[in-house]
Amino acid sequence: MGSIIKNKYLILRRITQFTILFLYFAAQYWGWKILEGNLSFSKFFDIIPLADPYAVLQMIFAGAVIATDVIIGVLIVLLIYGLIGGRAYCSWVCPVNLITDLAAWVRRKTHHEKDNLINVQKVKKFRYFFMVVLLLVSAAVGAAAFEFINPIGFFTRGVAFGIGFGWVWLLVIFIFDTFVLKNGWCGHICPVGATYSLIGAKSIIRVYHDKDKCTNCGECLMICPENQVLSPIINKKSDYISGIECTNCGRCVEVCNDNALKFTLRYIIKQKGEENEKSNIN
Ligand code: SF4
Ligand code: SF4
Repeated sequence: MGSIIKNKYLILRRITQFTILFLYFAAQYWGWKILEGNLSFSKFFDIIPLADPYAVLQMIFAGAVIATDVIIGVLIVLLIYGLIGGRAYCSWVCPVNLITDLAAWVRRKTHHEKDNLINVQKVKKFRYFFMVVLLLVSAAVGAAAFEFINPIGFFTRGVAFGIGFGWVWLLVIFIFDTFVLKNGWCGHICPVGATYSLIGAKSIIRVYHDKDKCTNCGECLMICPENQVLSPIINKKSDYISGIECTNCGRCVEVCNDNALKFTLRYIIKQKGEENEKSNIN
């Protein structure tokens, strides 16, 4: 029971990810109308459209005319992640996260977390560069370029339609993350994750670090898939994790035995903190 409570965010994330996959499967095979389509474009209860902003952006660059419900779907997704969830799509929705988290777990269990065949510093911003390049390629070829190699689409289609070449690509990503580069795909390549980082840059839900409680054990830094967002703050200051690449996965909160990390609402709590500071000064 203790470990369930301790890993509550991990368990909730897995439930969310598998439920979404199951609903796509159920729509395909039993005609359920709860969630139809795929992670590029879905319909929720046959009414509410949901569209992936990066997929639509590629279509715009490719010269496609975008249907009204797709535009509404993008706006809904922008509202959800831009205002509230930040980059939560990557840790709570995307099925590829199951594979990349597994690779990270294998790395930890085999004690080679830091062994990389590629210099991390040299690929720090590669995902943003790749995101732009693929938009330009989409414009050049007149088609959504990333969709030809998009593992998210392969995964959802694989679940709905069965085994195909896509699983080989997913295996390649697992091997890449395990043996070549830590958090390689999601942390350095995926343009969808890069897009959600930008969309969620000012979102409300954030992890807060309390320096007074921190014992500098390093557990959070070890588990975080994007630990560059933690390193400027951990044991240095009490503040929000404002790094846009944080996926709000909650793993840092779960592994912290000192309760130095917790989820909070950025602007509301910040205002309160500033008010308290002012009253202390007065
Ligand atoms: S970075 Fe890309 S593949 Fe990874 S979880 Fe996010 S959207 Fe999915
Ligand atoms: S800072 Fe915490 S919530 Fe954000 S990505 Fe890292 S482990 Fe996940």
